[in-house]
Amino acid sequence: MTYTYDPQNIFARILRGEIPNKTVLETAHSLAFYDISPQAPVHILLIPKGAYVNFDHFAAEASAEELVDFHRAAAQICASAGVAPGVGGAGYRTLSNAGSHGMQEVPHYHLHILAGRVLGPLVLKV
Ligand code: 5GP
Repeated sequence: MTYTYDPQNIFARILRGEIPNKTVLETAHSLAFYDISPQAPVHILLIPKGAYVNFDHFAAEASAEELVDFHRAAAQICASAGVAPGVGGAGYRTLSNAGSHGMQEVPHYHLHILAGRVLGPLVLKV
């Protein structure tokens, strides 16, 4: 499998501190920040610090440490935001877009964490 990572993508620039962000959580291998154009009352983006273009790249090539760090960070965010059912929250949706059919805009793997209202059907019927 070949993945080509563009180091000039906007999230790479956020990771280098070239563009500001509203940080929610930073761990050894992951960073979470508020989406600039929120689609729900809670809209947080979680990204690995490593250079991965999308979910399948991250899942296939990240180290065990990175994978655990990322998913534990996601759990921590859902709990801290009060949206995880496990802490009495009303729930949330995680999603990740990849490639052109997924309509991925930023080619650095990111998990959207959406919550704060009923989020509607899984995908738009087109
Ligand atoms: P995608 O379509 O790639 O799954 O999602 C990219 C997301 O990144 C969009 O929800 C968009 O609003 C968000 N985004 C794009 N540029 C920036 C930025 O400079 N800062 C932040 N915080 N979010 C951004």
